[in-house]
Amino acid sequence: MNEIEQWHSKTLGTAACEALKKNGFEALFLETGKEAAEWIRNLITPGMTVGTGGSVTLQELNIQQIVAEAGADVLFHSRKELSPEEKMEIMRAQLTCDLFLSSTNAVTLAGELYNIDSNGNRVAALTFGPKKTVVVVGWNKIVKTMKDAEARLELLASPPNNKRLGTGTPCATTGYCVDCQSENRICRVYTVLRRKPAKSDFTVLIVGERLGY
Ligand code: SF4
Repeated sequence: MNEIEQWHSKTLGTAACEALKKNGFEALFLETGKEAAEWIRNLITPGMTVGTGGSVTLQELNIQQIVAEAGADVLFHSRKELSPEEKMEIMRAQLTCDLFLSSTNAVTLAGELYNIDSNGNRVAALTFGPKKTVVVVGWNKIVKTMKDAEARLELLASPPNNKRLGTGTPCATTGYCVDCQSENRICRVYTVLRRKPAKSDFTVLIVGERLGY
């Protein structure tokens, strides 16, 4: 990363953190993904249950392996070998886990988190249930307003996710959202966290590196 990009990531990341704190979240700016992984690693005690969504950010940071090696029981429903029933069971268990880990689709400079989900399990866990929630977000997901967050989803987040998941939706061809009627549409549940959910212990780690979509 060059000097200007470093300045920009830190400046925007710090501003987003300040806004998140005003909205009741714990928020930290960390320069590298490695630091974020280490921060999460330090929360783990052997035997605790850790739920994770199918996040590219978490995969890029190898978080699931790191917490598993630290002794956590990882609840991850996107493993290929699982039956549909087993996946459902894991998604339900994530709602009451000790620690839920996720990224977010966008974070605004007003300190809001915007997410789109297909099943709704990820946004449900982000809203209520786990004893602690940690969101890891690369600075590439910082936007100015909620309108920018929606635009980010339609252009930069959902199309590559559809491509990755092989859903065959139109945006996996066009590269941008066409508000499809596809049976495989992954954009079904839209949520905004404008303040920290009242009963949640919720931390947002903003990382000064590009992570995820
Ligand atoms: S609504 Fe359809 S076309 Fe738009 S991003 Fe979602 S899956 Fe793609």
